[in-house]
Amino acid sequence: PPYRPEADRYGGMAYVRCGRSGLKLPAVSLGLWHNFGSVDRYENARAMALRAFDLGITHFDLANNYGPEKGSAEETFGRILAEDLAGYRDELVISTKAGYGMWPGPYGEWGSRKYMLSSLDQSLTRMGLDYVDVFYSHRFDPETPLAETMGALAHAVRSGKALYAGVSNYPPEATREAAALLRELGTPLLIHQPKYSMLERAPEAELFGVLEDEGVGAIVFSPLAQGLLTDKYLDGIPDDSRAAKATGFLREDQVTDDVVETVRQLREVARTRGQSMAQLALAWTRRRPEVTSTLIGASRVEQIEEAVEMLSQAPLADGEITEIETILGR
Ligand code: NDP
Repeated sequence: PPYRPEADRYGGMAYVRCGRSGLKLPAVSLGLWHNFGSVDRYENARAMALRAFDLGITHFDLANNYGPEKGSAEETFGRILAEDLAGYRDELVISTKAGYGMWPGPYGEWGSRKYMLSSLDQSLTRMGLDYVDVFYSHRFDPETPLAETMGALAHAVRSGKALYAGVSNYPPEATREAAALLRELGTPLLIHQPKYSMLERAPEAELFGVLEDEGVGAIVFSPLAQGLLTDKYLDGIPDDSRAAKATGFLREDQVTDDVVETVRQLREVARTRGQSMAQLALAWTRRRPEVTSTLIGASRVEQIEEAVEMLSQAPLADGEITEIETILGR
C-alpha cells in the first residue's frame, strides 16, 4: 500500500539544537549501518525507515560503505526515498560519510580530496539525491594534511552537494583543528560522531569539552553497544542477533561474562524505573548536555518504537546516575 506519514509525527519527538548551529536534530536518530544492505530483507528495511519517520525521527545516518555489500544501504535508502518519501525531502536530514575502504587502489579510502569528493558523488548517485544534509569525514587520516580533508568538506558544502560538514571518530586535538580550519573556510563544523555508551566512555575525557568549546554538536553511535546493553544476551546468543549473524560487526567473544553480569545489575535499575534495559542505556547517553542526538541501530520496527518511548520516560536522577556508575565500576 502507498505510504502516508502519520499526521502527528512531530508530537512525540524532542528536537535538539546541534551545537551552536541553526539545525535541530531529533533526540533519537536512526543509523543504517546494519539491516539495510542488499543481504537484508527490503520490506523490513522499508518498514523501519517509515516507522521511524512516523515517530518523528527526521535524521537518517548513512555512509558510503554501509551494507553489505558496500554501497547497498545507500541504494536501499534511495529506493525508500524514491518510492515512499519523495515528497518529504525537506523534512529529512540525511547524512553520509567517506573514510573507510570503498574501492580498490589508493583513492578508495582515507581523507584525500580525490577520494572524499568522488565518494560523495557516488553516494548521491546511489541515493538519487542532489545533496546530503551532512557530509562527514568518517575517520581521521594521519597521513593527509587535515587542511586538505577539511577543504574537501568545505568544497562539498560550497558546491551545494552537502549542507553541513561533520567529522567522525576524530581524536580531540584533531577535532579542535578541524573546527578551526572549517571556521576559516566559512563552512563551520556542525557535528562530531563518536562512539559513546555505558561501555565506551572515551569522549568524556576530552572530546566533549572540545565540542562544548567549539560549539559543535555530538551524535553518539552504538549507544546500546551494538545490542550488548539490552536483555538479549542475558541467556546466551540468540540466532537472530547481531552477534550470531555472519554479517554483524558484533563478535560472539564480545559477549563476555563480565558484560552479561553488568547488564544483569543495570537491568534492575531499569526495572525500578519501569523501563527496559535498552531504554535505560539510551536515557543514560542523554544525561550529557553535549549529546545532541543518540544514534541507534535496529533490526526490527519494535526496537525503534522502544527507543522513542524512552523520551516520554523520566530522565535519570542524580542518585540513579550514581548507582549506575557504581555498577559500571566507576
Ligand atoms: P546500537 O548500539 O543502537 O545497536 C543496535 C542493535 O542493537 C540493533 O541492530 C539490534 O541488533 C540491537 N537492539 C536495538 N534495540 C534493541 C532492543 N530494544 N532490544 C534488543 N536489542 C536491540 O547502534 P549501532 O551499533 O547499530 O550503531 C547505530 C548507528 O551508528 C549505525 O547505524 C551508524 O549509523 C552509526 N555508526 C557509526 C560509526 C562510525 O564510525 N561513525 C560506527 C558504528 C555505527 P540485533 O537485533 O540485530 O541483535
